[in-house]
Formats: sequence, C-alpha cells, structure tokens
Amino acid sequence: SIVYLNGEYMPMSEAKISPMDRGFLFGDGIYEVIPSYDGKLVGFAPHIERMDQGLSFIDIELDYSIDTWRDICETLIEKNGGGNQGIYLHVSRGTDSKRFHAYPDNIAPTVYAFSFEIAPAPKPEKGTVKQYKVSSTQDLRWKRCNIKSTALLGNVMHFQQGYEAGNNEIILYNANDEMTEGSACNAYIVKDGTVITPPLDHQILPGITRLMLLDILRKDGSIKVEERAVTMDEVRNADEIWLTSSSKEIAPVVELDGTPVGDGKVGDVWEQAQRLYSAGKYDY
Ligand code: PMP
Repeated sequence: SIVYLNGEYMPMSEAKISPMDRGFLFGDGIYEVIPSYDGKLVGFAPHIERMDQGLSFIDIELDYSIDTWRDICETLIEKNGGGNQGIYLHVSRGTDSKRFHAYPDNIAPTVYAFSFEIAPAPKPEKGTVKQYKVSSTQDLRWKRCNIKSTALLGNVMHFQQGYEAGNNEIILYNANDEMTEGSACNAYIVKDGTVITPPLDHQILPGITRLMLLDILRKDGSIKVEERAVTMDEVRNADEIWLTSSSKEIAPVVELDGTPVGDGKVGDVWEQAQRLYSAGKYDY
C-alpha cells in the first residue's frame, strides 16, 4: 500500500523511520484513526481537533492545517483504491541523537499516515450486526487516558486479557468499581430505555463516535441520555451494553464474563441508536 511519511507518498516497504525516533523509544506521540466509507470521511473535523488538542497537551508543535490533513487522508484513500478505509495518522515528537527523557528543543515531528481496509459499517439490523462478548477487569492504565497517546501498552495488555479469555473486548472499571471504558472503545449501558455512559474526564478517551452519538441522540430526543458514573453492579444488571469506536460504530455486547447481558440478545435501543447514527454520521 501507499503511505505518507514527512511530506511524501511512497510504498509502505520504502517508508523508513530512525530507531532513535521518540515514537519508537518512548511512545512519545499522538495518533488518530478516521474511518471512511466509499471515500467519505466520518467525523473528520472533530478527529483533527482531538489530535491538535493531544499535540498541544504534550507540547508538540506541528504546522499542519486541517486542509493539509484532509489532503493527506483523501490522497491515501485515492492512492489505495477507495472503498472503505480507515486512515491512521501518527505524529511523534521526532528523532533525537540520544535517548534522553526531556523534550528536545530543535527536532521536527515525524508524521506518518497509512490507510487500511475496513469492514462495511454496521447496518441497524439485529440479525446482521457483529455481537460482542467481553470480559471485565480493573483498569490498570495511567491517569491520563484522555490523551490519545501512541504509548498503548496498558490498552494492549488489557485487550490481550480479554482475547485470551475468548472475548473480543474487555470492559474496565476503576478502584471505585465504576466502569471507565473498553481497551479500545467507549462503553455504555441501557437501563429502562435510558443510555448511560461515564462523563469525560482523565479516565477515558473522548471518543469521536461517542461525541457524535450523544449529539445525534440528544438532537433526536427519542432516547434519553445520561453522562454519569456507572457502577459495575449497574453494568451487570443492564438491559443492554454497547461499545463505540470509529471502526465499530455502535457495537452490541451480548455476554459479560460469560453471563448474558439482559435477555442475551441484541437490544431494541441498540437498533434505534444505530439507525440514527447511520443516518447522521456524515454531518460531522
Ligand atoms: N477509548 C479508547 C481507549 C480507544 O482506543 C478508542 C478508539 N481509538 C475509543 C475509546 C473510541 O474512540 P473513537 O470513537 O474516537 O474511535
């Protein structure tokens, strides 16, 4: 495939980054994943805003405008054959001559982007959607989960825990037994028709799918939404559990730690929410 590296397009096999890059040595960088279907990007502007915010949190200065990013995304989609593609954007602090923790003064950020084929977006149909089975465990990541850092070891280890238990995600909870998020997604419960998800703070990534979904649901008004702490007791007694991410959209969870969620089937509220999301997602 064709990738972008520091201003140039090239085959992936020709893209070379120094082993002294701080992205490699420290995971010192910020990334994004933006989905596109039939060449149309979903949530492009909010994704770039989140990346800019992440870069400013960690004092990486990069002079890429939103138009530059759009051009990179559209060029990668086109050069790689269109269809349904996820675009991965990665900015590390850059390559230094030594390994020293402090931010170096005069190095240029490394900017890398590639695209990859993604599955078609889920249809709002109970019969065809991928059903998730999840584990749960205490969230052992750091206290800055709002930063979309390329240092993902905590997330990778948690995902692996769920994977080794035969599940396709893992729901995390803090020391107060409150749900935070999944290892690569945001998490929600539905109880008596109300969608409930933890508020934005340092414990979770501010997901763009979350942002768009909550906005779409509030504008529509047919499903009630609450942002508040959710205890694991509530999660275990929920009617429905959902996960969201750019690649999943809204994913229904039918089993938690081997126990059926609600009646063990994909829920009605999920179907209505996915219908609204599918109809509204290109407006962001
Ligand atoms: N939380 C975590 C830890 C994630 O890795 C992701 C996906 N990158 C999300 C939430 C969902 O974010 P988004 O909807 O922007 O893909």
